[in-house]
Amino acid sequence: MNDFQKNLPTRLCLHCNKCEGKYPESLFSPIPKNCGFSGYIFLEQEKHKQKVRKLKEQIIGLKVQIINTEGNAKKKKYEKALEKIYSKLEELKQFGPIDF
Ligand SMILES: [Zn+2]
Repeated sequence: MNDFQKNLPTRLCLHCNKCEGKYPESLFSPIPKNCGFSGYIFLEQEKHKQKVRKLKEQIIGLKVQIINTEGNAKKKKYEKALEKIYSKLEELKQFGPIDF
C-alpha cells in the first residue's frame, strides 16, 4: 500500500464488485466506472487541478509584472517569487499531471 492509498478514506467501496477492493494507486489512476471511489477521486482531482491553475495564474501575473517593472531590484523580487511558484508547481507533479 502506497502513501496515497493509506490516506484514502476507508469504506468508500464496499459494493461495486468491479475494483475487487483494490485501492486506486494514485489520484489519476483509472478506476472502474461506478466504483465507490469515483466521487472522492473526482473531487480530489478537481482540487489538484484548481491548485495547478491557481499557480499558473500567479505565474502569468508575475510575468506581466516583470515586463512592466522598471527597477532591477523590483524585477529580481518578482523573479524570485516566480521561481518559488515554479517549484511549487513541480511539487504538485507527484500527485498528478500539471498540464491544465
Ligand atoms: Zn470499487
